[in-house]
Amino acid sequence: MINITRLISVVLLLLLIVTSFKANAIRSVVEVEQINIAKTHLVVDYLSIASAKSSSIKSAEVHQLTNEQWQEKQSISSGFEVVKGTNWFAINLSNSFGEPRSVYLTFKNRFQLIDVQLYQLTKEKKLNSLTFHLNSSSLKSVLINLPALSTSTVYLKVESDANLKLPIQMISERFFYQYTSEAQYDYGFVIGGMMLIALVMLLLFFASGLKSILLISGYFLTRALLLSVILGGNLLYLFPELPELRAVDLPLLTAASLIFLLLFTLELFNLKEALFSYYQRIKYLCWLLFISIFVSLFLGVHATFIMSLSFQGLVSFALIILGIVLIKKSQPLAKLFTLTAVIQCLFLMFNVIILQINGLATIEYQSAYFGFFFWLNAFLIIFILSRQYAYQLRGKQQIQRQALESVIAAKQANEELLALQKDNQEELEVHVQERTLELHIALQELESSNRELELKNTQDDLTGLSNRRFYDKKILAEYRRSKRNLTPLSLVLIDIDHFKRVNDTHGHLAGDQCLKWFGQKIKASLKRSTDMGCRYGGEEFCLILPDTDAEGALALAEALRLSISDEPCNYQDLAINLTISCGISTYLQQDNVQPEQIFSGADEALYRAKKDGRNQTLQHDFSDQ
Ligand code: GH3
Ligand code: MG
Ligand code: MG
Repeated sequence: MINITRLISVVLLLLLIVTSFKANAIRSVVEVEQINIAKTHLVVDYLSIASAKSSSIKSAEVHQLTNEQWQEKQSISSGFEVVKGTNWFAINLSNSFGEPRSVYLTFKNRFQLIDVQLYQLTKEKKLNSLTFHLNSSSLKSVLINLPALSTSTVYLKVESDANLKLPIQMISERFFYQYTSEAQYDYGFVIGGMMLIALVMLLLFFASGLKSILLISGYFLTRALLLSVILGGNLLYLFPELPELRAVDLPLLTAASLIFLLLFTLELFNLKEALFSYYQRIKYLCWLLFISIFVSLFLGVHATFIMSLSFQGLVSFALIILGIVLIKKSQPLAKLFTLTAVIQCLFLMFNVIILQINGLATIEYQSAYFGFFFWLNAFLIIFILSRQYAYQLRGKQQIQRQALESVIAAKQANEELLALQKDNQEELEVHVQERTLELHIALQELESSNRELELKNTQDDLTGLSNRRFYDKKILAEYRRSKRNLTPLSLVLIDIDHFKRVNDTHGHLAGDQCLKWFGQKIKASLKRSTDMGCRYGGEEFCLILPDTDAEGALALAEALRLSISDEPCNYQDLAINLTISCGISTYLQQDNVQPEQIFSGADEALYRAKKDGRNQTLQHDFSDQ
């Protein structure tokens, strides 16, 4: 988009330069040609009548006027001074050559002109009406034949709405075609070029869909048509039989082009959002211009011309004010925009000043003059448009860059989050492992303490032997095993004799020491790993002897009893002599014997041993029952 607009700008600039050169070239050719005509005495002079009387002069009688009735002679090179109303011009032509010559009388079409008629006096002294031909959109011409060595007078009747200068030229036949084709080329170049821009802009609009480009296309189209009207290609030229169409197009195209320019300005600076008060004012101005089109229908040619000029001035002034406001707001395009408006304003002021000094008559409707200005204006506006796109693109790029940066930042943040999560995961895993290990250790500790507890539950603290609880479980298990394996099971129940006395005599601590010592003795007496010593309660003990018959049990009990009675228990400096009594019962799978009976059997034997004088071992006999 930017490249296309820039390209158009460059092409426009080149066209602008070429146009100005081209226009100058055409002008100089015409001037040279005029000098030639003067030198060959083809055009001698011209007379004019432009007074209140002129309108009453009949065409057939104009050649009968005396020289005094014609006003002063003027040089043709600066054109004819036409005043408002009917004007008569008498042009004296002279051919000093010895052969017939032809000359073209040519003038530029003007919207202020109502009618132009040309008459030639024949040999018979009759006035013959000559028909004008349209040679290009802005040129009217008529061929006048001059016989060898003759003079002739042609009469020109001009009806005009305004005082103006009619640039009439007499061109020899030789240069006429060159002149008209150059003028046509010039016209096509200046106006057609601008039409082309309008078309390119329209195509750009179809490609981009941007409203501002459509508006600028409308602006160039109306400007091209306006330029065409100013340079002579107006509606009257297209429809010569309809004089009502004269100058209808000028205010219409002026207003339309100004509306397009204003609407484009609204779009360019986005005034609706940026400066709402100015947006409203410009909208009102657009409506005013729109209404002016209808008002102009009721006004004369001169008034509409002045009105169009005033509106152009008003809009230029408004745009300068807007430009200054935007410069203060540091709008990037404001300076260029203001410059364009100032140039437009200066051009108008220049025209108005000339009008003020010399009147409407002196404005030269030269294609070079208007063409240059219109093209300069077009170039500046397209340049503004290209700058606007450059800024917009820059803005878009910045937004894209920001978007990209935020995406990258988001991605980075995401990656950091993931890394953090990973770290946390690892940390968590380590933590869990540690905790699991701790738990494992705790479980092991718990297990060992449970085992310890269990052991404590089944062990007697004082003697280190198993306790009564353990005995209860153990005797049941051994009973079942004995029954299953058909092996004998013996139980020895031991009670320390007169132990109360020991306590009473030496104290409880000594008694405890004796119990501890006795426990050691029991442990030492047990030979098999399956044998088990238990503290049944107080100073009563029992031995569970699996796979041990009555004899074996008696031998073990006796050995223990003797080891006790033979050796005193030493406590501090005391030697405490102890004896024990034992009762044995042996289970040999008798039918009626349950674990309780095994114990009660041993208890019964112990009771008897006590009763028989203590320090002895007795056996229970199940067959006695
Ligand atoms: P016997 O020969 O008839 O068995 O007489 P004894 O005095 O040994 O019997 P008794 O059942 O009357 O007394 C048992 C005593 O054992 C009572 C108590 O003072 C003592 N005793 C029981 N357990 C402990 C203990 O753990 N420590 C101490 N020091 N003495 C205990
Ligand atoms: Mg006892
Ligand atoms: Mg006792």
